[in-house]
Amino acid sequence: MDPIKQWWVEEKAKKAIEKLVAHDFKAIYRKTKEEAVQEVWKHITPKQRIGVGGSLTIRGLGILEKLEAQGYTLYDHWKPGLSKENILEIRKSQMTSDLFLSSANAITLNGELVNIDGIGNRVNSTNFGPGKVILVAGYNKIAENVQEAIKRIKNVAAPLNARRLNIDVPCAKVGKCVDCNSPNRICRVLVIHERRPSLADILIILVGEELGF
Ligand code: SF4
Repeated sequence: MDPIKQWWVEEKAKKAIEKLVAHDFKAIYRKTKEEAVQEVWKHITPKQRIGVGGSLTIRGLGILEKLEAQGYTLYDHWKPGLSKENILEIRKSQMTSDLFLSSANAITLNGELVNIDGIGNRVNSTNFGPGKVILVAGYNKIAENVQEAIKRIKNVAAPLNARRLNIDVPCAKVGKCVDCNSPNRICRVLVIHERRPSLADILIILVGEELGF
């Protein structure tokens, strides 16, 4: 990365991390995806049951394939070939996993996490249940404040995710949110973590690269 841009990214990340830590989260910065992966491995212990949220970022780390090859139990509802019943069971299991891996839709410079979910298993798992939660997020997820975070999610993340997953919602056609009433609407639950939920153990790894949408 261009050194000037690197500086800008690191300044933003530093500010967000300071506030996240002040809000009782664990939060660290890692310059590259590879360094973030190394950090995630430090928290993986034998026989853990690992839940995986609907996240492109986590799947882009290349860690799930290795975990599976090593015999870990993975609760990954994006795995191809699963039946509807299996998917439902996996979503439920994520909420009681030993370790839950996901990303955040947005992280504010005020130290808040902002997530919008369609079903709720991903956001539920970041509130209460798993033994530990690790959220890996590229610097592109940093937003000025909650309002800007919601704007970003609805006008960037949601349209791109909906289009990628081939979901028939208006934003996947026009590229921005129209606050639809579509039966396929993917924005149904908004969760703002103002502070770490009392019984949750959450580590946020902010990465100095663009990851996910
Ligand atoms: S509310 Fe509807 S149009 Fe807006 S981002 Fe969500 S799915 Fe897309």
